[in-house]
Amino acid sequence: MNRPLLARHLDGLGTTIFAEMSALARTTGAINLGQGFPDTDGPTEVIEAAVAAMRDGANQYPPGDGIPDLRLAVAEHRQRFYDQTFDPDGEVLITTGATEAIAAALLALLEPGDEVIALEPFYDSYAACIAMAGARRVGVTLRPPHFRPDLDELRAAVTERTRVIMLNTPHNPTGTVLTRAELEAIAAVAIEHDLIVVTDEVYEHLVYTGEHIPISTLPGMRERTVTISSAGKTFSFTGWKIGWVCAPRELIAAVRTTKQFLTYTSGAPFQPAIAHALRLPDTYFDGLREDLRHKRDLLGGGLRAAGLTVYEPQGTYFTTTDITPLGYADGLDFCRRLPELRGVVAIPEVVFFDNEEVGRPLVRFAFCKRVEVLEEAVSRLKRLEP
Ligand SMILES: *Cc1c(COP(=O)(O)O)cnc(C)c1O
Repeated sequence: MNRPLLARHLDGLGTTIFAEMSALARTTGAINLGQGFPDTDGPTEVIEAAVAAMRDGANQYPPGDGIPDLRLAVAEHRQRFYDQTFDPDGEVLITTGATEAIAAALLALLEPGDEVIALEPFYDSYAACIAMAGARRVGVTLRPPHFRPDLDELRAAVTERTRVIMLNTPHNPTGTVLTRAELEAIAAVAIEHDLIVVTDEVYEHLVYTGEHIPISTLPGMRERTVTISSAGKTFSFTGWKIGWVCAPRELIAAVRTTKQFLTYTSGAPFQPAIAHALRLPDTYFDGLREDLRHKRDLLGGGLRAAGLTVYEPQGTYFTTTDITPLGYADGLDFCRRLPELRGVVAIPEVVFFDNEEVGRPLVRFAFCKRVEVLEEAVSRLKRLEP
C-alpha cells in the first residue's frame, strides 16, 4: 500500500492531548487538572431516577429523536431560562452528548470545500469534525489578556465559501462569555451573508461574570441557528453523554439525517433521568454556579501565588494562564514536565490554536474538582515560585 492508512484529509488530527496528559497523570500519580470532568457526581435524585428507569425497563433503543418527555423537558428549560419556544416534536433532537450533536450538525451542513469560521482556540472536536466533512476551518483568534473576538477580523474572514459560523459561549478554554454587542455583530454578519450559526453552549449555566445570551434569541437568528447543549457539565454527569440540539424544523431535519447514522440513539435510562434533572428548581442551577465560582477563585489565587499570569475566566470549568513569568516559553514542554516537577497535570493550549504564536505560552487548568484536591494542587504549585 503506497497510501497512508489514515485518510489524508484527517492528517494532523493525531491523538488528543487529553490522552497523553491523562496517561502522564496515571503514571506519575499527579493531580489531574487536565481534562474537564468533575470528581464528584451530580444530584443523587438524578442517579435514583436513572436507576429507577433501568429497573422499569428503559433498556432498549429509545426513539431516534429522544424520548418525548426529555424533548419536552428541554423545551421547558429553554422557555424557563431564555423565554424561547421550541416544539418538542421536530425542533428538539436528543444526541449522544454535545459531541455527537457537533459532529452531526457539521457533517450535515458542510460540503467539501466549505469554510467554517470559528473562534480560536478551537475546542478539539470542531477541528476534527470540520476535517471529516472535508471543509476548512478559518480561525478568529481570541487573544490575551481579554480574549475578545476581533469583529473586524471576523467580518474579513467571510468568503464565498463560508457556510457556517461556529460559536462556543461560554468559551472553552478561555472562559470568554460573548456579550450582547458581540453577538449582535456576529448575527449581523450571519444575516448579511446568509450563514448558519452552530453554537455550542454546554457551559450555559456556568457563567460567573456577565450573562449567557443564546444567539438564537437575537432578532433574525432563530431561523439560522443550531443550538447545542448537554447535561454533562450542567449536572456533573459527563459520562452519561446526553446532549441536545434546538433549532427550527428544517435544520433539525438536516442534523437528524446524519445523527441517525452516527449512533441512531443512546442512553435509554439516562434520558428520563436528565428530563428530571432539567426540571430541578433554580436553586440547583444557582448552587452549581456558586460552587464553581468559589473553586475558580481558589485555583486562580493559587496559580497567581505560584507566579503565573492568570486570566480570570468569565465562565466554564477552566482557567487560562501564561507561564512566561516563570521563565518558560513553551506550554507543551511545561505541561510534559509539570507532573514530575510538581505533581500536577495541565493542558497546553497551543494544541487548540492554528495561530501557535499566540497559544504557545498558554496553559489551561481545570477547577471542577473537590476543594481538597484544588487545595493540594495549589500547595504543590506554590513551590513553582523561583
Ligand atoms: C465538554 C464539552 C463538550 C462535550 O460535551 P459532551 O456532552 O460530553 O459530549 C462540547 N463542547 C465543549 C466546549 C465542551 O467543553
